[in-house]
Amino acid sequence: MKYLFLVTLLFSVTLSGLSQTNIKCTSTDAESVMKGDFKPSDFDTSGTAMNKQELIDYIQSGINSDSLKEYIIKLSTFKTRHTSSDTVSTDTGIGAARRWAHSKFQSFVPGSNNRLLPAYLQFNQDICGVMQHRNTIAVLPGTDGNLKDIILVEGHMDSRCDGRCDIDCQAEGVEDNATGSALVLELCRVLSQKSFKRTIVFMLTIGEEQGLLGANAFAQYSIDNDIDVRAVFNNDVIGGIICGASSSPPSCPGENMIDSTQVRIFSFGGFNSQWKQLARFSKLQYSEELFPKVKVPMMISIMSAEDRTGRGGDHIPFRRKGISSIRFTSSHEHGDASNGPGYKDRQHTSDDILGVDTDNDKVIDSFFVDFNYLARNTRINATSIVMAANGPVSPSVDLDMRWGRNLLIEVNDAEIAPRYRIALRSNTNDWDTLYTVLGKRNMDIWIKPDVNQIASVAAMDKDGIESLFTGERSFQTAGTKEQVSEKKDLVLMANKPNPFDEATIISIDLKNAISYEEAYIAIQDISGKLIKKIPVKLKPGLNEVLYEHGYGVKGVYMYSLIVDGKALQSERMIFAN
Ligand SMILES: [Zn+2]
Repeated sequence: MKYLFLVTLLFSVTLSGLSQTNIKCTSTDAESVMKGDFKPSDFDTSGTAMNKQELIDYIQSGINSDSLKEYIIKLSTFKTRHTSSDTVSTDTGIGAARRWAHSKFQSFVPGSNNRLLPAYLQFNQDICGVMQHRNTIAVLPGTDGNLKDIILVEGHMDSRCDGRCDIDCQAEGVEDNATGSALVLELCRVLSQKSFKRTIVFMLTIGEEQGLLGANAFAQYSIDNDIDVRAVFNNDVIGGIICGASSSPPSCPGENMIDSTQVRIFSFGGFNSQWKQLARFSKLQYSEELFPKVKVPMMISIMSAEDRTGRGGDHIPFRRKGISSIRFTSSHEHGDASNGPGYKDRQHTSDDILGVDTDNDKVIDSFFVDFNYLARNTRINATSIVMAANGPVSPSVDLDMRWGRNLLIEVNDAEIAPRYRIALRSNTNDWDTLYTVLGKRNMDIWIKPDVNQIASVAAMDKDGIESLFTGERSFQTAGTKEQVSEKKDLVLMANKPNPFDEATIISIDLKNAISYEEAYIAIQDISGKLIKKIPVKLKPGLNEVLYEHGYGVKGVYMYSLIVDGKALQSERMIFAN
């Protein structure tokens, strides 16, 4: 509870007054590249291009758990990486940590044919009494001068204890978030040796723990400088596999339980959300490209909510500015960072350390993070990043239904892609079916009859790489000929996903605009007791409401659409958690 209050307070403080000024990149070359204001031929890319299959093999063998371990051990030595800690010392505090990260980026420059451009993104803001702050970045120039949009992968480097401005406590911040920082460094090392059509930016932020401030600075910087950010992959708490006693829901089932084969993607929105579309794109790249080649298969869970209950991350400032962004987080984490009475987990305490020395030889031999698990998550990120960096531009299409059974796709672009992918889903956050069709001006696919289908489209190039998918359209398909005639005026749909992960999305499909005074979704328990009223603005098309139920409350519940005091339709939902 205390933490929830704190988070709310911090976000409101951040939003209300503490403005960020003088946001700038310390390297004019790096800035020009991010703005797309450069000549790709000025950079030597000889021997660096690879096709899709070569890239996947390269990612598989190139990303190394020993490198990740080495970075994490080093990051744990600075005692604290609090945003406002010492910047002068050579071995303690955020300054030393940041200079080390910059020197790591610098060490990758020769392997990139001198193309990689390390820099800082600097901004002024009063954070715990310190005015000037720096994210550490490295920019890998793209090879296609026509594609100005960039791909960003990031993790926050700062750490904290319970006190927001406690700069003296030991905060090694290993799980949160040396793991995400190491992932970014390793991606930079491996990917900077190859070349991609779009520019890729690798970033370690600061100020995350005081309100996502470093990420906000970059998001604002990109807007101020007309930098077109195509996709943001945020990694935060990404290497731990051990469940604590108090992890924030939705999370792991019980203390000390282990899961090293699942990772969660958090993203904003439901129907027609560019953020969920990016999450699905990432999962698709893993399932189709990397999965067939791995020894240890990973399960990727696309979560309904934007983050765990009461928590936030660096993907959020980008979302607020309309930029596609997602967060990767371990399935199991050690704590909810609440720090309340009796809190014994590691997150946001001095106990978020490397591990323990089990045989008393003064060397840690049992680690709290799993470097192989982190390596698998790094490869999942890498696959998404290289596909997003090399893929074609998203198509412009019109979608329509014919006879209640056939989905018609009309391409508006001047050029027709070699192939298109058509993604369909019904009751889950995941796509149910993906069609690959030969590119034509007009395409036509038969859809399995179902109550509701949600469709989107991507272009595919001759190397078999998809673009990001378009926005979604919702359709009612017909089960029988009799049903073909008319779409119902109003349908309260099954909540999705179901069973679900603590939060669920309730949708209302409305045919025509209606006038009303007040509309809301009423959640009731089985005895009819009202649990929650969620106001809804009804407009033609698919209307969605996110309902956060909380964790550990089992049972059957009802949800009803109430318009001007009248219950129009009701449905049942089951909470299994
Ligand atoms: Zn974190």
